[in-house]
Amino acid sequence: MFRVYKFGGSSVADATATSRVLDIIGARARDGRLIVIGSAIGGCTDALLSLADGDDSSAAAALLERHLGIIRRLFTGAERAEASDEIRRLFDEMLAAPADEKVTFGELFSTRILARKLAAEGFRTRWLDSRALVISDDTVETCRRIGAAVQDPDIDIFVAPGFIARTKEGKVTTLGRGGSDYSAALYAAAAGADALCKWTDVPGMMTADRRKVPAARTIPFLSYGDAETLALRGAKVLYAPAVRPAMEAGIPIHILNTFCPSDPGTVISATPATGAAEWLGVSAKDHILYLTRSGLAEGTEDIRTAAARIESTLRAEGIAPKEIRCTERGIEADIKESVETAALIAIHRDFFETAPVDTIDLFIAGAGAVGSALVDLIGRSRETVEKRTGKALRILGIADSRHYVINLAGIRPEEAANPGMTERDGFTEEVIRVAPRGAVFVDCTDSIDLYRSYTALMEAGIHIVSSNRRSLAVPFVEYAAMKAAALQNGVSFRYETTVGAALPILESISRGANSCDEVLSIEAVVSCTLNQILGEYTPGGPSFARLLRKAQESGLTEPDPRQDLDGKDALRKILILGREAGIPLEEADVEVTPLIPEPLDHLDQDAFYKALEGMEPLFAKAFEQAAAQGCRRRFVASIERASGTRTGYRACIRMADVGSSHPAYHLRGTENAIIVQSSFHPYPLVIQGAGEGARQAASSILNDILK
Ligand code: ADP
Ligand code: ASP
Ligand code: MG
Repeated sequence: MFRVYKFGGSSVADATATSRVLDIIGARARDGRLIVIGSAIGGCTDALLSLADGDDSSAAAALLERHLGIIRRLFTGAERAEASDEIRRLFDEMLAAPADEKVTFGELFSTRILARKLAAEGFRTRWLDSRALVISDDTVETCRRIGAAVQDPDIDIFVAPGFIARTKEGKVTTLGRGGSDYSAALYAAAAGADALCKWTDVPGMMTADRRKVPAARTIPFLSYGDAETLALRGAKVLYAPAVRPAMEAGIPIHILNTFCPSDPGTVISATPATGAAEWLGVSAKDHILYLTRSGLAEGTEDIRTAAARIESTLRAEGIAPKEIRCTERGIEADIKESVETAALIAIHRDFFETAPVDTIDLFIAGAGAVGSALVDLIGRSRETVEKRTGKALRILGIADSRHYVINLAGIRPEEAANPGMTERDGFTEEVIRVAPRGAVFVDCTDSIDLYRSYTALMEAGIHIVSSNRRSLAVPFVEYAAMKAAALQNGVSFRYETTVGAALPILESISRGANSCDEVLSIEAVVSCTLNQILGEYTPGGPSFARLLRKAQESGLTEPDPRQDLDGKDALRKILILGREAGIPLEEADVEVTPLIPEPLDHLDQDAFYKALEGMEPLFAKAFEQAAAQGCRRRFVASIERASGTRTGYRACIRMADVGSSHPAYHLRGTENAIIVQSSFHPYPLVIQGAGEGARQAASSILNDILK
């Protein structure tokens, strides 16, 4: 079996470089037969082309001298004399040749030297004349001729010039600049080689041309199609026409570094190891800058987003592209040549130089408003999150109350909205069984007993983020046990969203508690429903009952609106707040005065609203009294220092009149406010803002996940 080794001009620029090539060949020739394709020594082809243009004899002499210099270093004695004579002879032939054939001599010089040296080292070597084998416009005939030429089993190494060929009409010609790669591919296909290795001066096909973008890195695996696309778009490390013959014969192409032969380089094959659509590289050709995406790209949304990103990246560099186009292979921008390098560097930095990313694996329980908003948010913000935080979000499991799906390869956010869940329970058990340590379990449910699995999840090394306040408003011993389990297992347990949705309330309180800043009082006006209704209500206007019904109809209340009036939800929130401040509050410690004097629980809905209507005079009177004192009525949950109580604090939930100097006086709509007095601070901490909304909650959950 053959391997084809192609050495470029950069690899055979001088005697030192040529010795390196000889070492590579020598070390590998033992493993099987080789076909070595050589380019002209670096700069030779250009020199021959200018020689053909005019008669600059000093340049010709310098070129001859470079070759003789290499010979002097590689050979001694009679071998040196023979090699030098041969090159001188070839040089005279070149000088006498027609102008358009001069350029074909560079590969003859270099490969004759190489073949002679390999033979001198004892390899059974044969030089093949590509001008007799490669027919520039007839690949079938080329294959036949090469196939026949490499038959001899007594030869270890065939050496052939790249670049040069003959036309059907018999005229010596070339395969175009960079064409040695193509020669190598033709030899590989014709000989049925098992690998085509291009040895060059860079460690593979890279994300950019390293000469312009020093931060460029090697792309380890590429498909033939992707490699060809990059080559066509200015990644001149590979001559694009070389891809086809190798692809059709199924021969992998390796791009390897002559200067560091043990580097793995790039492997180009039909089945590259990475399957995901990804950005491959940035290159430039003919005033067009290309950002290329792998051939497996799906959808154009990413491409459009990337186009906008390129535009802003370039503008930030002071570069104004004339036009930016989206294509199925990526993005093209027309730019001036003078800014090409700056543009390449900027785009490469933006797309290829992100810090290594950590992956956060997510299992999301709850497919209601908040769970869906979270999945949606993750889908939309993943790239930004990755750029800002270096963390990649990956959803591995999703469950609603009756179904779940787990896919350890990752569920794409597009699929996550409709993941095809099968009906079964046991989501948490399965998560415990299969989740990688360090994964995050997100509880977006309103389940009353999911919290019982938290400890087992934590013991499996899984972090917990919860927006479910029922999980936290459990008896204090159970709350304390969950917190202890988190500490013991080195996992985090976050639930910022359980009070005031997106407002950073719990974090602010626990910061104080952690630094021994003792809480003196907390006032929380955190019922969105009641804040909305109490804000709208004016005596003489629509009755309280009517406003509640309206709120119910617009989905603002609990399914049974009585639960908004009985203070239970506020109770859960004050328990969480108090505990976060280090106060071991239990339900029984909180004095709850419901908004309405009687529970009305026994009535059906219509009867309830009727009874509530009957209480209207009470509401009106209380509001009038408050207004007369310049106050507004708010439903307030509070905790304050009090001696003689079990916890040292008194906690209550009730309607309160607040004056215009009170932060809750100015609340709008469903806004929440929380006011914390603590021993280190002369003035209270006030946190106020939108407290509700699935989107806000989702953003808060995401923050908990990223911490
Ligand atoms: P050879 O003479 O070995 O054929 P070339 O000079 O033709 O080598 O190609 C190698 C050069 O290609 C590298 O030195 C590098 O500067 C340039 N190049 C341009 N784009 C890329 C890329 N994306 N990856 C690697 N090299 C590239
Ligand atoms: N020597 C030729 C050139 O410089 C062919 C090659 O190097 O691939 O274009
Ligand atoms: Mg080349």
